[in-house]
Amino acid sequence: MDRERIQKVLDERKEPAFRAKQIMAAIYGQRISSWEQATSLSKELRDALVDVPVSTLTLSHRAQSKKDGTVKALFTLADDKEIEAVMIPNGDFRTVCVSSQVGCAMKCSFCATGTMGLKRNLSADEIVDQVLFFEKELAPKNERVTNVVFMGMGEPCANLDNVFESIRIMNSKDGLGIGARKISISTCGIVPGIRRIAEFDLQINLAVSLHAPTDDVRSEIMPVNKAYSIGQVLDACRDYLRQTNRKLFFEYVMLSGINDSIEQADELGAVLKDFRPLIQVNLIPFHQSFFEFRPTARAAIERFQSIVLAAGIPCTIRHSAGVDIAAACGQLALERKDK
Ligand code: SAH
Repeated sequence: MDRERIQKVLDERKEPAFRAKQIMAAIYGQRISSWEQATSLSKELRDALVDVPVSTLTLSHRAQSKKDGTVKALFTLADDKEIEAVMIPNGDFRTVCVSSQVGCAMKCSFCATGTMGLKRNLSADEIVDQVLFFEKELAPKNERVTNVVFMGMGEPCANLDNVFESIRIMNSKDGLGIGARKISISTCGIVPGIRRIAEFDLQINLAVSLHAPTDDVRSEIMPVNKAYSIGQVLDACRDYLRQTNRKLFFEYVMLSGINDSIEQADELGAVLKDFRPLIQVNLIPFHQSFFEFRPTARAAIERFQSIVLAAGIPCTIRHSAGVDIAAACGQLALERKDK
């Protein structure tokens, strides 16, 4: 819902303050798709709202994986810019992967979104509406969104005010009522952002994209490392763990010949040694895009995993969902580029 435009209508009509709450209940509780359905509002108010779209997003394309049921949705925003969100069904879980920005300024060399550059930040409403879209899609099957991850387009820590605001709405009983522990932010390692997440009063999860155990390799594939080195990121992570007592996830995308050697697995184990066992490393199989990078073979990923595990660090291999519809990690925005 576009709270700003709705509030403008309410102000013009000098509506009482509780009207905004009624509208929230219609949008998030009743999950209306048009103002006509908002029967708790007067006919006059519904008519006055008719030019304000119920959602900030218009669905422009939808694809569903035949392999695993993953759904990718492409949305057009009010200013004609486009974003993508993904819903990954897995057992009883329905995880929605949301975008926090149109494009991204971080320019990680293996990531499709990075090639777009940053177009703009998303508002809190535009972020929440991605989740609401899937809530509405799942409702007829009596299913609900169970988890939200900020792993779509964009760097959440570069738009943290709006990201926090969106999380408050998702978490609120008057909003989507999703538990804070079911919501995860993933960052490329923006240190002030990590420190702010540690201070955030909601108990959300944090994942840090590490992707290399040494600064030389990390700087090569992630320009952000020149601003915040591995040492600085890990210092912030150490403080985060001390402050929050929550588990911390490190992501590590497996790029053949770049960061996947046995020596690098040993180095990763050494670098993360004093975090044992409070952290978990997630190895992400690289999803082929238009870059020169190649994915690490499955056997080599498993070997890498066993070395990290032997160092006493919990380590899993991320299951890749939605690969056949270009909905997997780092593939968002690919399709648009081809058009
Ligand atoms: N800006 C956030 C969210 C990015 S997307 C961050 O950097 O954490 C979530 C994860 O997907 C990140 O770890 C990102 O590095 C990874 N990723 C990007 N492109 C990928 C690709 N082609 N294959 C696999 N993972 C990729």
